[in-house]
Amino acid sequence: MSRLLLIDDDAEFRHTLASALRDLGHTVVEAGRAADADAELARASVDLCVLDGLLPDATGLEWLARRRGADDKLRVAFVSAYWRDAASRSRLQHELWVDMIFVKPIDPLYLAHELDSTLASPSPSPVLRDHLPELRSRYAANLPGRIDAAEAAVDRAHALFGKAASAAVGSAVADAVHLAHRLRGTAGSYGFPAVSLAFGRLESLLRGLPVDAEPPSELWDAATTALKDARAAGPVPRPMGIDAARALGAHRGRVLLLDDDPDFLRLVAAIAARSAIEVIPATSEKDAIAICATLPVDGAIVDVNVEGRGTYPVVRKLRALPGRERLPVAFVSADNSVATRAAAAHAGAVRFLDKPVEPDLLVELANELVSLARRNHSRVLIVDDDPDYVQLASTLLGDAGIESISAGSVDAALNELDVRRPDLVLCDLYLPMGDDDVRAVGGLDLCRTMRLSPRYDDIPVVLVTARPDVASRLEAFRAGADDYVVKPVIPEELLARVRVRLDRAHLIRRAAEIDPTTGLMVRRAFARQLASALSEARRHGRPLSVALIDLDHFKGVNDTQGHLAGDRVLEGIGALMRRSFRVYDIVGRWGGEELVVAFPGEARQVAAVVTERLLAETRELAFEGDKGTFSVTFTAGVASSDEAPTLEALMTITDRRLYLGKRQGRARVVRDG
Ligand code: GH3
Ligand code: MG
Ligand code: MG
Repeated sequence: MSRLLLIDDDAEFRHTLASALRDLGHTVVEAGRAADADAELARASVDLCVLDGLLPDATGLEWLARRRGADDKLRVAFVSAYWRDAASRSRLQHELWVDMIFVKPIDPLYLAHELDSTLASPSPSPVLRDHLPELRSRYAANLPGRIDAAEAAVDRAHALFGKAASAAVGSAVADAVHLAHRLRGTAGSYGFPAVSLAFGRLESLLRGLPVDAEPPSELWDAATTALKDARAAGPVPRPMGIDAARALGAHRGRVLLLDDDPDFLRLVAAIAARSAIEVIPATSEKDAIAICATLPVDGAIVDVNVEGRGTYPVVRKLRALPGRERLPVAFVSADNSVATRAAAAHAGAVRFLDKPVEPDLLVELANELVSLARRNHSRVLIVDDDPDYVQLASTLLGDAGIESISAGSVDAALNELDVRRPDLVLCDLYLPMGDDDVRAVGGLDLCRTMRLSPRYDDIPVVLVTARPDVASRLEAFRAGADDYVVKPVIPEELLARVRVRLDRAHLIRRAAEIDPTTGLMVRRAFARQLASALSEARRHGRPLSVALIDLDHFKGVNDTQGHLAGDRVLEGIGALMRRSFRVYDIVGRWGGEELVVAFPGEARQVAAVVTERLLAETRELAFEGDKGTFSVTFTAGVASSDEAPTLEALMTITDRRLYLGKRQGRARVVRDG
């Protein structure tokens, strides 16, 4: 629960908001004047401050500007009728760094709920705050060049008027509008509000200019003034007081390396640093577990022989930590026998390297683990033709653990939708259709196209635009957009909106794809993933094996122990299977009491040994039923892709071997016949 300070001289509004927030479980203090607010903050710090625009003894802006000198951490929701002009909005966002802006009149109950949900979400990561200044100084360095380019485009258009055909004039004007529009949106997002405003002026001067009549000279004068203003405007320093020395792009990933040779660990860490992977060394199991419990790691590389014994169980322990269920792990060992490989696969190893290992190879492996871990994360497609904006957005998302890919046009975006299957599309409203058509407003077209296609209609779309008017908003929602963000973007707002949409989409997809009893994929989802894994295996000339598992005498279990006990068995085995395989492996419920695992890259001998280990562990599980404690077994059929030309044929062979096993007496794994 949070502590909030409400600063508003409208006592009725303040009391209603305060009581709504208290109902939601928060602690609220109130102030009717700026001086009272200072006194409250001197008494105790608050998690969020709700600030009115006009107070009896100061404006909200003045008060905040004064506080920002000393306090850059205070989170502020600005609630006022007075921020509507672009200049104040910009100042609020980029100089005073308010977290949220609300317009009065506003229903206090609605506001209370909005504030409550904001407070429930974690505040932006320190990493994100670290990256912004670096990004911004880079953008600042490039800004003069971008302004030059816009100026050149304006000059070109000016020179063509009255001399060239109207099509050529139109195209030159459109180029200039396009560049101005970009700078308007992106400069603001990077914290250059005055540059953004100047280009906003330039854009409205040039947009819709009739191409067959020469514009008055005042127009060109105004354009020149706008460009001059843009050049004169310096960056507005954000009072963050943070260390910006960290290089951009650091923390591409973090991998734990468990090995008992400190020199080797140091060498690997040094090489890894060059590829922006952080390798965290551990020399004992205990260290490894402590590190994984406290640091967000993307993967682990484990030397099997650390502390002079097999270290497979450590992986189980790592994966038992909260949130580490699918942690990608690789093993390094001097022994490469089938038994060792099967043990590694069973423990959930993604890769297996022979010792001695070249440090470079280990770093490559670390990279692979990171990209695997990220594969399980969300992926956002950023569609925008401004590389600077793409860079900003992808850094924000990256720091929040969200992978991003980008496309600069509608055509490119449609292609990425097919190839990379993003979980969300973050799309600029004003967008080229293709390489040779740079002027159409394409964001809405992309949205409509996606909504009409059954393949993409479940992917959320968040539109980003520099045009915050009501008509554009409505048009966006009519085209099927799920949400709307206004450029210049407030990083925290962008991230919050993307997160909410991702979470919701994830929940919906999960509900459709995950069987609630076992927590494993439903048959349809499993079959889809198996099909793509199978074709990938074929492409790389690698094997893929499948184990089809059927519980023994399950009807009898239901009859004697009760149907509920039967359900608990399925739950228990589902949980066991979820933690028993590698991230690569695909685990599903085929139907009823039949379960299925696909092992990409493994021959059926290895798959069979892993399945036998699963059988041994299944026997160990104890269940409570109507007639007391009991345990169960299963029979499985294993086949591999080199025995079958199609997915159906592969499943038919597993099925045949499964029934062979049943006839032979159950509780076994059959890989031949
Ligand atoms: P075997 O496979 O060893 O030949 O014998 P079996 O008794 O397991 O064979 P069969 O396939 O005929 O029976 C499967 C039983 O599994 C029937 C069904 O009631 C039960 N079952 C299927 N799905 C569920 C479920 O979700 N919960 C419970 N409790 N039982 C289920
Ligand atoms: Mg059965
Ligand atoms: Mg059955």
